[in-house]
This record gives sequence, C-alpha cells and structure tokens, in this order.
Amino acid sequence: MLSFRKKVFFSDLALFLLFIFVLFSVVDFKAGFLSFGAFVLLLYSIMTWAIIYRLSSPTQKILDAILPYQEGRVEFLPRIPINKAEDSDEFSRLASTLNSLTERIEIQIAHLTYQRKETEGILQSLGEGVIALDTAAKVTFANQVACRMLGVCHDEIVGQPLNQIKTQADGLPQKCHELVLQALQTSESITETWTLGERNPVFLHLISMPRAEHNGAILVIQDKTSDYKIVEMGKDFIANASHELRTPITIIRGFAETLQDIPNLSPKMLKEITEKIVRTCGRLNHLVKSLLVLADVENLSADRLKQTDLVPLLENCAHMFLTAHSNVQLSIQNKLERSLVTADSDLLDLAIMNLLENSVKYSNTPAQIEISLEEIEGKAQLSVSDKGIGIPEADLPHIFNRFYTVDKARSRKSGGAGLGLSIVKTIVEKHQGSIKVSSKVGQGTTFTCSLPTC
Ligand code: ADP
Repeated sequence: MLSFRKKVFFSDLALFLLFIFVLFSVVDFKAGFLSFGAFVLLLYSIMTWAIIYRLSSPTQKILDAILPYQEGRVEFLPRIPINKAEDSDEFSRLASTLNSLTERIEIQIAHLTYQRKETEGILQSLGEGVIALDTAAKVTFANQVACRMLGVCHDEIVGQPLNQIKTQADGLPQKCHELVLQALQTSESITETWTLGERNPVFLHLISMPRAEHNGAILVIQDKTSDYKIVEMGKDFIANASHELRTPITIIRGFAETLQDIPNLSPKMLKEITEKIVRTCGRLNHLVKSLLVLADVENLSADRLKQTDLVPLLENCAHMFLTAHSNVQLSIQNKLERSLVTADSDLLDLAIMNLLENSVKYSNTPAQIEISLEEIEGKAQLSVSDKGIGIPEADLPHIFNRFYTVDKARSRKSGGAGLGLSIVKTIVEKHQGSIKVSSKVGQGTTFTCSLPTC
C-alpha cells in the first residue's frame, strides 16, 4: 500500500506529465505560455509535496515507532524518538505525552504481572488442588497439587475440558468435569466425596463453585485421607478398648456366678476363685488407668512442663524399681552431673518405669537391665536395655501401636494389654522427643529415648 505522502506525489507527477503531453499536442504559438504554465505547475507540485511531507512526517515517525510492537515483532512498548532540533513543538509535546502514557502503561503492566505472580504463588503453595475453568468448562489454571492429584502435568491439562485428560486417576477427572458443569449450569456450589484407589484409598473432597459474574468455575480438591484415618483410628481404639475391658469383666462375672450358683464351695476353691477375681480386678484397674493416662498425655498442656534434671529422676526410678523387684540386676551408666530437659517429671517417671517393667516382664529371671544416660548434639539420650527374649523383626514396626502385643497370652498373664509402649511413645513425643528400638530374639532389647535439652 502506498502512503498518503507518496500518493500525493505521484498524482502531482501524473498531472505534470499529462500537461507535457497536452503541450506537445497543441499549436506552437501557445508554447511560451504553456512552458510558463508547466514551470508553475512543477513548482506547485514540488511545494505541495514538500508541505505534505513536512505535515505527515511526525505521524510517520509515530507509526514507525508503534508498528513493530503492533505487529508483534518486539516485546517492549515503543518509545517515539524526539529530536528537539528538527521536530516541531507540537510534535515534541505529542510524542512526549505518548511516551509518558507508555511509561504509565508499563508500570501498570508490571504491577499486574507482580499481582498475577503473587496470586499464582499463593495458589501454588496451597495444600489443596485448585483448578480454574472458563465458561466452556476448559481449564485455564491448575496448581501443582491439582496436577499431582489428577496425575497429569500442567501442559496436559490447560486448555482442555477435564473429562478429556488422559490419566491414571480413574474416573476422577470425569467426576470433576461433571461437578464443574453442574456448578456452571446451576450457579451453585457442589461438594462431593471421592475415593481413589482400593488398597491404599485416598479420600478426596471435591468442591465445585461458580465464579463471580458467570466467569467460569473453580474446582477445589481436598485430600481428607488423614482426617478419615483419624476417625478410623478412633473407631479402632474404641473397639479395642471395649474388647480389652469386656474380657476381664466377663471373667469376673463368670467367677461371681460360680460363687452365686454353688454356695457350698470348699474353702480351697473359694480362696482360689476370690484370688482370681481380685487379680482380674487388678488387671481391669491397670487397663482403666492406662486409658486415663493416655487421654491425659494426649492433652498435655505446656504449663505442666518444667525444667527437670534427668540424673536424679533416673536414680529415683531405679530406686523405686529395685524396691518392687529386688531380684533384678540393674546398673546405671551415667557420667553426667546433670542433664536438663523441659518436662513433666511425673510423666517421664511413668515412661521410664514402663520400659523397666517391660524389661523384667520379657526377661528370664534374674533380669539383667542397664539404664544409660548421655548427651549427644543437644539431646539427652536415655536408654533401657535388657538381655531378655527380644522382639521378632516383623513385630518391631508395630510394637508402639495401641493394643499391639507380640504374644497376647504372655502379655495378659503379666497384666498387659499392649498399651505400655504406646504410652511411652506418646509421652516422649509430647516432650518433642523420639523413641527407637533395637532388638534381637534371644539376645535382648534396647529402647532409646531422645529428648531435647534446655
Ligand atoms: P504389653 O502390655 O503387652 O507389655 P507394651 O505396649 O508394653 O504392651 O508392649 C508391646 C509388646 O512389645 C509386648 O507385647 C511385647 O511383646 C513387646 N515388648 C515390649 N517391651 C519388650 C522388651 N523389653 N522385650 C521384649 N519384648 C518387649
């Protein structure tokens, strides 16, 4: 396309040539007059071209600056060059107004880019999966969690309706798409639960809601597996606790009914039965106490924690333990004068006594037990070792679980219900510590508690 300037130039030239043509086709007497006319016309054309060139040159300069950006050849917004010596005042003013407009637009773009990145950063850092969709139910944004839950990468999902993505998460994208369509059609939020997988199920909450001003929809995917597990654990705990409580109650009831039904029992039988009732009551009492301790430890508040020296605490435990078990061979390995931790001393007493009691329960007489205390990298390491029966490797990952026992009969006989170690673990963890076990069947077991010192 010819520019306006060029069009004017060529039309003037054409006019001039036409005039020359006329000149040569008419009679001579008019030649002088016509030559003068031709000269005037040529002059007029040159002047017209010069004026138009001068008038259109600033517009051309602006166009030259803007066109590369408009055509997408450059990324940055254009600046119009100003030459104070050559350019007119009006043009300089217009150009600098456009340049300052450009600057403001640039600042606003930078601000919007920053805001967009910040929003994206927030959405990426959420623990929930978030997917934004347009009015055609096509994905416009998906954060990393959403991609992970759906088992796709970002590029595979953006621009697609959810029911068309290919993924291992069977049925989930289709369900999500269905909910998005419902939210778009009804303009109401919809929530549903979805279970993914069978062996290790993942429980998801899907929330689909319409965006403001009919601008599409948002889908939020929440992983509620841990909540479901807590509920399941609670159910298991109640079932186990009820079972453990029912067993001694059934035993006591059986003996009491025998006493009721057979009033003339021999004194020997009577003694035997009443002893069993008392023993079972003791077991019941122990169980109820353990359950109460567990509930108490779970709710341990910070104001119960005081600076506690582990050295006298250990010596006191050893003393109490030897008073109850005089035939045990107990040694203490400790070179520290003091070892300070922030703790509830009664609970730490209970944890150490539980470990010592287990060492006797699961050792042949006389039990050989060693308590040791040392400090490593700001942590007090307290170990209780025995040379008892040990724990089979397969049971080691489970022994801290509530109501877990390796040999139910042996535990029952000694009044245990599989709560001792879970109490110890809960106490240690409530003190920001950790517990580990190493054991070999037939050789012995060592429990090591690590607590932060203060
Ligand atoms: P229990 O009341 O059965 O003793 P615990 O929670 O204290 O319950 O212990 C869980 C299981 O861990 C026990 O059944 C026992 O088999 C095993 N165990 C715990 N301490 C020892 C130990 N020192 N030596 C061998 N086995 C142990």
